[in-house]
Amino acid sequence: MSDYANWLTPELQQTLLSHQGNNPDEQAYFIYQLDELKKHLLTLQEQNVIKLWYAVKANPLSRIIQTLDSSGFNFDVASSGELKQVLAQGIEPKRILNTGPAKSLSQLTEFLTEGVEIFVVESLNQLNWLQQAAKSLNKCPKVLLRVQLQWQEGEKNPLGGNSLTPFGLSIAEWQGIHIEQYPHLDLCGLHIFQWGNMLSNEKMYSLWQQMVTPLVDLAQSIGMELKILDLGGGLGVDYLEEGQVLSWPQIISDLAKIKAQASVEELWLELGRYAVAHCGFYVVPVIDRKVNYQQEQLVLAAGINHLIRPAITDQPFPVRLLRESQAENINFDIHGPLCTSMDKLGHLPLPDDVTVGDELIFAFAGAYGFTESMPFFLCHQTAAEYVIENGLMTEVRTAQPASWYLA
Ligand SMILES: *Cc1c(COP(=O)(O)O)cnc(C)c1O
Repeated sequence: MSDYANWLTPELQQTLLSHQGNNPDEQAYFIYQLDELKKHLLTLQEQNVIKLWYAVKANPLSRIIQTLDSSGFNFDVASSGELKQVLAQGIEPKRILNTGPAKSLSQLTEFLTEGVEIFVVESLNQLNWLQQAAKSLNKCPKVLLRVQLQWQEGEKNPLGGNSLTPFGLSIAEWQGIHIEQYPHLDLCGLHIFQWGNMLSNEKMYSLWQQMVTPLVDLAQSIGMELKILDLGGGLGVDYLEEGQVLSWPQIISDLAKIKAQASVEELWLELGRYAVAHCGFYVVPVIDRKVNYQQEQLVLAAGINHLIRPAITDQPFPVRLLRESQAENINFDIHGPLCTSMDKLGHLPLPDDVTVGDELIFAFAGAYGFTESMPFFLCHQTAAEYVIENGLMTEVRTAQPASWYLA
């Protein structure tokens, strides 16, 4: 995991250059290296400080979920669809937890009925509905209350901004609950997660550290025995290739301190991108190249219809030309085919000799790729998805034409 700059290995390059899709609807595809993923996940598991969950939204592909399962991860799901997908892979409901701001009474009932035993509760209604559903099904699920912190103006603010989100509730709101009113809930922990793509160990640690006191105080003030602290996800990936990489051993030793400070029995993380981003790539051909007002432009067969993240975060995925080239790099504006200026995958360096028909490969596309995108706009084909396991490339999802989804 350390040498990211060389992510396009000769082996991967060879496999992809010799790939001949025989489906005319296959314009572009995702590919996930499951052997590499497995190695990475096993390193993450070589510790006994934290319990690891996989945030399924990062990539819900069956084969990805199966690889996380065989590496001992548990699963954080946020919708009925994610729940069914995880259960369909044969995962026991005991190893699933439910987060998300939109849990209705019927969804909570469904999750309980399916056997899910752990819930991150994000509102007073959710708390009351879960109590109601648990009572009628005669169950007693574990509950973590999701806390959203804000710092007073002028105080040292670790979160940068105090932007309000629908995730969880303030300390003040949670302080109003009376634990004895929830006999069917085992209120045993707190959940907090309100930062994204952190790339500095120091910042991450300082952020976690500043959470401990308010959370421990909250638990005490409502009479909750704080057994579990869940710090969510947010461990970053170096999308901009600036050489900034988190040290996992450092995270573990920092979290051992947090665990001791909070004196909890269990400390949890729900990893999304940090678990799966590196194993995935997106391959797409160049349809056109032109110079426009002195700017080199490339237009690709697909763009944000397959890979929307650059448009909504302003962070591109790193790119390379798939074939060998000795040409100097110059900067290209890289666009997709949609008739909107939003369809741009970045302003990035590529060899000067890149030409129509060449394939580009984007890295870190194992997370927030296929399912985060907007495949229907302008009626293009969907992307295919492949895995490489034991050196063998196999198709998991075939590309489909627009007629497949149009009504
Ligand atoms: C999205 C999400 C995560 C994972 O986030 P990453 O930044 O990909 O690690 C973890 N927990 C919850 C509740 C989430 O919504």
